[in-house]
Amino acid sequence: MKAAVAQQRSLLEVAELDAELSRIAHRAGHLPERQDYQRLQTDQVAVDDRLGALGIALEDVDAEISRFELEIDLVRQREDRDRTLLQSVADAKQLSELQHELDTLQRRQFSLEDSLLEVMEHREQLQAQQTAELAKSQALQADLAAAQQALDGALEEIDQARRAHATRRDELTATLDPELIALYERQRAGGGPGAGALQGRRCGACRIEIDRGELARISAAAEDDVLRCPECGAILLRVKGVSQ
Ligand SMILES: [Zn+2]
Repeated sequence: MKAAVAQQRSLLEVAELDAELSRIAHRAGHLPERQDYQRLQTDQVAVDDRLGALGIALEDVDAEISRFELEIDLVRQREDRDRTLLQSVADAKQLSELQHELDTLQRRQFSLEDSLLEVMEHREQLQAQQTAELAKSQALQADLAAAQQALDGALEEIDQARRAHATRRDELTATLDPELIALYERQRAGGGPGAGALQGRRCGACRIEIDRGELARISAAAEDDVLRCPECGAILLRVKGVSQ
């Protein structure tokens, strides 16, 4: 197969564009901006979980407080009733019984009030935790918005680079011999580069040094002969001015 030197030069540029496009694709898949965003999202989920648990704990504590308050109220009503009775009862035995009951009720009231205080202290702790988590959540939301913006910016930049490279690639392939580009694409379908420049004794596609015999054959070939790397099969382009 033959291809003019200009065609070979264009094909080399296509190969370079394809290498850059796969670097761009790799970069898009490993964006630090995406990792930052995902890390913040994970943090946000954790904070939301903790806030959910705190909400449930606070509801439980509130129910407990209501129960204590109701019970204290009932004990107090009973005490009031006993005190009223105390004023109207004359019988000594009844008086003693009433007084005893009042003492018991009062001890019960103090004990309930102590328990209520403990529960209310626990409620304060839970509320402090909730306030702290809410502050974290708000800070995270701001960070997430910033991270989203950074990610969008990075993706947009990558997309622009991808489009610019793809456009240039389209321009070049439109000028290339369809047979040459088909050969290139077939080689590329194998996973490796479709073409590479001959750099000294080395194939630019597989980086393997070509042995002297093959190299002599390559040197003797006409400049418009389409050559393949004996090692990887890539189209070997002898383009002057390319050295790496
Ligand atoms: Zn090679």
